[in-house]
Amino acid sequence: MTDQLAAQVSNRFAVVYGHEPEGVWSAPGRVNLIGEHTDYNEGFVLPFAINRRTYAAVSKRTDDRIRVSSTFAELPVELSLSEISAETVSGWSAYPLGVVWAVAEKSGGFGVGLDIFIDSDVPVGAGLSSSAAIECAVAVAVDELWALALAERDLARIGQRAENAIVGAPTGIMDQSASMLGELDHAVFLDCRTLEAQSVELGFAEAGLEILIIDTRVEHRHADGGYASRRAACEEGARVMGVAALRDLNANDLTLAAERLDDQTFRRVRHVVTENSRVLATVDALRKSGPTAIGELLYASHESMRDDFEISVDELDTAVEMALRHGAIGARMTGGGFGGAAIALTPLAKISEVTLAVKAEFASLGYAEPNIFAVSAAPGARRVL
Ligand code: ADP
Ligand code: MG
Repeated sequence: MTDQLAAQVSNRFAVVYGHEPEGVWSAPGRVNLIGEHTDYNEGFVLPFAINRRTYAAVSKRTDDRIRVSSTFAELPVELSLSEISAETVSGWSAYPLGVVWAVAEKSGGFGVGLDIFIDSDVPVGAGLSSSAAIECAVAVAVDELWALALAERDLARIGQRAENAIVGAPTGIMDQSASMLGELDHAVFLDCRTLEAQSVELGFAEAGLEILIIDTRVEHRHADGGYASRRAACEEGARVMGVAALRDLNANDLTLAAERLDDQTFRRVRHVVTENSRVLATVDALRKSGPTAIGELLYASHESMRDDFEISVDELDTAVEMALRHGAIGARMTGGGFGGAAIALTPLAKISEVTLAVKAEFASLGYAEPNIFAVSAAPGARRVL
């Protein structure tokens, strides 16, 4: 699949631009194994890069024009490097153009112009961060063609900067970190306060396990308002408890928090505090006992999001319960909530049973048919051709 798409994107580039690309770079989507709504509380997350990737075929030009084209829209969008801004670009092209802009900003000057063509097998809007995949694929390409040799962490920040400043989405650094730093069969353990990242071996294949993505196809209804109110509750909790961020609280502080906070704010705080310790416990369990030991932590994370943070929906709860009932060893909703996907850590022998059971239950409840597929932990952004 991967090599085929790399060759395909190179061919499409030649058709669109009339000459060969200088190379093809690619970057993966990601899924968050555990650690939800902990990032903006300066806590811990544990995503991994997946075997679904975005490819960017790129060549340098002799002038300062940037042209971007994608299978989304083959007619190239074209403008000068110095013209790129939040006001001048919009739609899908804001992602690659924003990255070119952010690389120029970081390197303190403009490189030569570029022709860029993009294709991808990362599903869009399924919570697998097709946005980080496109950003990181373009970032590594521009870095190499402009001979900058920036560090991976800087390239991750460039993706975030593009998304914040040019696309206009206030996202954190998790997605780009996973897409840049991912390794085969490893997760990226990220401290969102220090931005320190460590690779943690997953050992899924060796244990005969796979992560199933169950995309409920429920669009993130109320996601904006829900997200903003959760963030506000976390800030309020930290303020009342006298800490810089909820990261600074642990389980022992919860008794005092229960006295000082109203019930709802307390439950929001309890989710973040317990979720941070679940991420740490998951890392510990993976290192000491392997992936069969993390099932209960995944489900505890789901319960906390459902009951304390209140960001699940019926479809996600159904997916999780059915997966567990039919052989998954752990399952949880993943992503920001109010829709999107669940993950289920599932023995290979149970993959088809879980898949069929979830689909049958969704059908009988009158839900839309879910999109269910397995992913594995794949390497991060790099040159592929
Ligand atoms: P996700 O959860 O998939 O990251 P986002 O809304 O953050 O969802 O980003 C999806 C957007 O990224 C798409 O709407 C599109 O603008 C852009 N994008 C993703 N993949 C591609 C692609 N292959 N070609 C062009 N644009 C893409
Ligand atoms: Mg995104």
